[in-house]
Amino acid sequence: MNKKIYNFSAGPAMLPEEVLKKVKKNFLNWNNIGASIIEISHRSIEFNEIIKNSKKYLKELLNIPKEYVILFCQGGARGQFSAIPMNLLNKFNCADYINSGYWSYQAFLEAKKYCFPNNIYVREYINGKISISNMKKWLLHKNSDYIHYCPNETIEGISIYEEPNFKDKIVIGDFSSYLLSQKINIKKYDLIYASAQKNLGPSGITIVIIKKSLLEYKNSDIPSILNYKKNFLFQSMLNTPVTFSWYIISLVLKWVKKKGGIDYFEKINIKKSNLLYQKIDDSNFYINNIHSKNRSRMNITFQLKNKKLNDLFLKEANKFGLKFLKGHKIIGGFRASIYNAMPLSGVEKLVSFMIDFENKFK
Ligand code: PMP
Repeated sequence: MNKKIYNFSAGPAMLPEEVLKKVKKNFLNWNNIGASIIEISHRSIEFNEIIKNSKKYLKELLNIPKEYVILFCQGGARGQFSAIPMNLLNKFNCADYINSGYWSYQAFLEAKKYCFPNNIYVREYINGKISISNMKKWLLHKNSDYIHYCPNETIEGISIYEEPNFKDKIVIGDFSSYLLSQKINIKKYDLIYASAQKNLGPSGITIVIIKKSLLEYKNSDIPSILNYKKNFLFQSMLNTPVTFSWYIISLVLKWVKKKGGIDYFEKINIKKSNLLYQKIDDSNFYINNIHSKNRSRMNITFQLKNKKLNDLFLKEANKFGLKFLKGHKIIGGFRASIYNAMPLSGVEKLVSFMIDFENKFK
């Protein structure tokens, strides 16, 4: 039996063991400079290597075109919920917010502080399962400055795989639990952002990939730390960045590249998620209420038909070495977050546990 412990936390989430071992090995004396990486200046030549490499890897992995810049911001994805309207509201002083779940709705609520955004609800039911309506059915407003949506709702486990194709609209995506999990066409977006603590590294940094032309927007009166133009001009170091997170992100990106890039992870993520959904669908014991076309490959949510067994399931899973499977409190049940760092063996172990648990308690 595989005795290894697997961490299914939604974020901060598990990181590649190889990366953690490297961090540990180099922690006291990074690259033989006689100091830890967390003890040196963000402006030093040594740290500059990390900045350069992380940008280079991101550009390569995501195929980021020349007309975009990468910013490393603070304040999490929630910080971006404020930064986006502050920087990008323009002549209409209004924006379209696609509401597909908890996080996209939170972005809408934050935008309400700055304008009267449109709350565009896009969930529908197909054969009793939650799905997201096709983009061409989204009721966008003519007079809005941008459209914001979230391609992976981390809490509910709902993904939107369709690519946006909205003419003459600025398109913004919250890729917090999606970035690096599969290929994306950056050109379809004007701004994408992702907090790091899922697929990229520890918490503390939020990646913003933004079209250069958007930096020319107005809004000099907004807080400097949220101002995209200022962040660009100061090379994401207007204040002291979270150097330790940034360092680990650079190692994770290198690891992603070494493994075979996003193509490799897309294939394995499909395999891992299919395995788990297959198990759920094969039984009447477990339930997932998301339509197959919108099921997340990163956050797989499920319920037990017999809710009385919930506590026992968690307790037994824990004992078996399967940690942090408890679902988010707003939907309950269970959630297996299986980002890039989760090996196939972790999902196989979970599936084998689910089969045994079902056989014992059905
Ligand atoms: N958006 C999404 C899709 C998320 O999953 C999260 C965090 N779980 C957030 C936004 C908020 O991120 P942060 O805690 O970094 O502000």
